[in-house]
Amino acid sequence: MAIPFFKEIKIGGYLMKQKLLGRKRYPLVLMLEPLFRCNLACVGCGKIDYPNAILNRRMSAQECWEAAEECGAPMVAIPGGEPLIHKEIGEIVRGLVERKKFVSLCTNALLLEKKLDLFEPSPYLFFSVHLDGLKDHHDKAVSQEGVFDKAVSAIKAAKARGFTVNVNATIFDGHSAEEIAKFLDFTVELGVGVSMSPGYAYERAPDQEHFLNRKKTKKLFRDVFALGKGKKWNFMHSGLFLDFLAGNQEYECKPWGMPARNIFGWQKPCYLLGEGYTKTFKELMDTTDWDTYGTGKYEKCADCMAHCGYEPTAADAALTNPLKAMWVALRGVKTEGPMAPEIDLSKQRPAQYVFSSEVQKRLSDIRKEEAEAAAAKAAAKAEAASASTAA
Ligand code: SF4
Ligand code: SF4
Repeated sequence: MAIPFFKEIKIGGYLMKQKLLGRKRYPLVLMLEPLFRCNLACVGCGKIDYPNAILNRRMSAQECWEAAEECGAPMVAIPGGEPLIHKEIGEIVRGLVERKKFVSLCTNALLLEKKLDLFEPSPYLFFSVHLDGLKDHHDKAVSQEGVFDKAVSAIKAAKARGFTVNVNATIFDGHSAEEIAKFLDFTVELGVGVSMSPGYAYERAPDQEHFLNRKKTKKLFRDVFALGKGKKWNFMHSGLFLDFLAGNQEYECKPWGMPARNIFGWQKPCYLLGEGYTKTFKELMDTTDWDTYGTGKYEKCADCMAHCGYEPTAADAALTNPLKAMWVALRGVKTEGPMAPEIDLSKQRPAQYVFSSEVQKRLSDIRKEEAEAAAAKAAAKAEAASASTAA
């Protein structure tokens, strides 16, 4: 296993504690986005379409540590943007590891080889390298040639230095089961674990044509898993989440399981949808109208089967029904026969398109902050000047 065994035990212990305390909603992984700036512009990305004033903002190391402590989740995933662009990324990771958080640093790996010295191998740290498929497929997905080769070289270099490395793949329509199976074989050769998630149809992603709907997702994953029988693909997912992807589980998402904190604050309701922000984690948990989100409830959630919404549900289901989880682990994911019933979409509320107004609000907050900081600086300068004149 690419994930250290004691991590499984620690996270299992945390989950058990939440259950014993009777908590209905609790975070499992903090999705920390300290910046939105990236050195790539992938066609399926819904994170980088912001004006420069926003792309230039960073969360400080202190803000990152405070967010991790405030949230309390045992794991922190750092996506972005590209986190390796952040000047304090080494310090941010070091501080999180010191706080005994498991850190998954998600990177497109363009800068990884150059920046390995910023990190130290630790059972608490693993790199999660963005690879959407084999060479041709990946380079097309990230709209730049040569990225696959660079990423693979960085993975090898990081492994040689003693780091744990996984890869994460976003799956879009048009990626055949056979190609995905070949890619998974390649990850075995590389000696890395894999996480996979169907791409979420971000309203601002440049390519809107290639997102999978739930029906296609389930069929595709069934085909992939059928091709994987007897192989040793090392998925970084629970068996029940994979079973869900193959259409064998009827789950509702638990968006609070992977809450997102970024330069705007705590994002409502989840990592994929930005429909408002709160200042504190508690406020996010207490003021989000959770019952109005999820497949069947909200149009923007209709096709979502992403791991950040459904892996927490699968983790919860494994605790509630360990025999079922064990059964899936033993017999593997079912790839034939009837699927679990699909959630009824007929009563979902219509989508609200709030992205632009949210961005405008954030921009005016940033401009106000900048104006206040400039005024304070000018006042301090004037005071210093009048003090020196008086002296
Ligand atoms: S590497 Fe990630 S953050 Fe950067 S453009 Fe691609 S999907 Fe977006
Ligand atoms: S289904 Fe859940 S995880 Fe997916 S976008 Fe909607 S709220 Fe977020």
